[in-house]
Amino acid sequence: MTDESKPNGELPSIIFFCRDCQKVISNPQKQGAKYEYKCGVCKGTDVAFGTRKSIMDYFRLKEKDLVAESKEQVAESRG
Ligand SMILES: [Zn+2]
Repeated sequence: MTDESKPNGELPSIIFFCRDCQKVISNPQKQGAKYEYKCGVCKGTDVAFGTRKSIMDYFRLKEKDLVAESKEQVAESRG
């Protein structure tokens, strides 16, 4: 019995936004026991997080800005 399972199976709408990179990041690293997160790109700790809506409103983001790392650059070279 897991009441936490949403009927629609939607993902949690919490997103992370690095103020240094000025972009949404998808893989922040948690800083110890604090509620701090480190950006995996610039290693900065100026990472804000919140619901998708709040982050979008606060930083005035657009939908396209939320497409974080959807296109991973696979540097696989075929020989
Ligand atoms: Zn960053």
